[in-house]
Amino acid sequence: MSEEKSVSKKLKDELFYNRKNGLLKCDEDIIKSAFRYCEEYKNFLNSAKTEREAVKTAIKKAEEKGFVPFERGKEYKAGDKVYFNNRSKTVAFAVIGKQPIENGVNITAAHIDSPRLDLKPNPLYEEIDLGLFKTHYYGGIKKYQWTAVPLAIHGVFAKKDGSVTEVCIGEDDNDPKFVVNDLLPHLAKEQYKRTLAEGIKAEELNVLIGSMPFKDDEGSELVKLNILKILNEKYGVTEEDFLSAELEIVPAFKSSDLGFDRSLIGSYGQDDRVCAYPALTAVLDVENPEKTAIAILTDKEEIGSEGNTGLNSNFVLHTIGDLAKMQDGDVTVTIRNSRCLSADVNAGMDPTFQDVMEKRNASLLNYGVVVTKYTGSRGKSDTSDASAEYTAQIRAMLDKEGIIWQAGELGKVDAGGGGTVAKYLANLGMDVIDLGVPVLSMHSPFETTAKFDVYMCYRTMYIFMK
Ligand code: MN
Ligand code: MN
Repeated sequence: MSEEKSVSKKLKDELFYNRKNGLLKCDEDIIKSAFRYCEEYKNFLNSAKTEREAVKTAIKKAEEKGFVPFERGKEYKAGDKVYFNNRSKTVAFAVIGKQPIENGVNITAAHIDSPRLDLKPNPLYEEIDLGLFKTHYYGGIKKYQWTAVPLAIHGVFAKKDGSVTEVCIGEDDNDPKFVVNDLLPHLAKEQYKRTLAEGIKAEELNVLIGSMPFKDDEGSELVKLNILKILNEKYGVTEEDFLSAELEIVPAFKSSDLGFDRSLIGSYGQDDRVCAYPALTAVLDVENPEKTAIAILTDKEEIGSEGNTGLNSNFVLHTIGDLAKMQDGDVTVTIRNSRCLSADVNAGMDPTFQDVMEKRNASLLNYGVVVTKYTGSRGKSDTSDASAEYTAQIRAMLDKEGIIWQAGELGKVDAGGGGTVAKYLANLGMDVIDLGVPVLSMHSPFETTAKFDVYMCYRTMYIFMK
């Protein structure tokens, strides 16, 4: 009997696919490296809360490593490092490979926009002696999560004279913060009857920005006047300048370690900076790759990759085209031979909300980087669904390099769904698969990830591009 058991055990070891917690699989030094890696990641989260700030921070880091703006007509040789800045909101970094570009490029693509509250074009108003901003939410948020938390304002005023003035208030400890107020429970009897989706309505996401009337005067809207006076002194703007501004309201708190053991990270904007930072640091670490390595940090994923800074534009086509042309290569041939990791988060299984997941195919925290063959919703709508062959290539690469990884789906079938930039890149004609980090409380003001998974994501991006 006991011998029979050991035979079945042996056979099981051979035939069963076993997932295991990465922290139990890995040496202490890998876990230490993960913790060390995430120290700088947390700083990146604090300095790059918007797509513009992420582009700026990324370019600064890249220039320190020798990246220069790509110039058409100039010849770059193997090992050279260039970048393509698309309107300060999307950026592509490339390290020229030893092989001809027509042999294909290795692309990692992550997004640097996150759900938030944008100011409306005409946002400023005063009600009962209080000053407020009207907002229009960006991306998929649970609106009730944005009330009664400290908020900061980031963005730009673009003026008619062509100048652009940057704004960032609420991040310094000494800075004032802003808030969307919620109704007190004592008087919320009617509000409690609303559905969760309607608990706070979009037009109730109004940001409190001041209460002091312009002194020694009479008349209406003196609080609004005083706020405009402050803004005029600080930024040289009038109310009309809001019409050509992009001001984004984001949580004012900073990233931090989570848990007694410090194994987790809490922060705003980890979807998808938790993949953007690994893609960026990986391309900065790549030296003399065989094939040209490209890391793309893109805007507009959270609203469907639309617009000229989203990946549903021709930005990738043009970028690869510029690189191919430099070697008198053909862009079509290049794209056909190219591979991509669409680096985006997946929903990690939350112990409290397990029923939306199908546990055999849900990603778990600390089980490593998640490979997501397809996203979408219903019957695989709106997804590129990577081929078995390409998935096998990626499996082989991960296993060869000792990367801890897992496969994941985005929740139970028909529970909901979502998408990434994968399909837009796949539609160009290259091989693409989604790969990223499992996240809890995705799209909330304070998202949770595990340091181990972040590091495995970095290792994957590096190995893929090197
Ligand atoms: Mn995402
Ligand atoms: Mn998202």
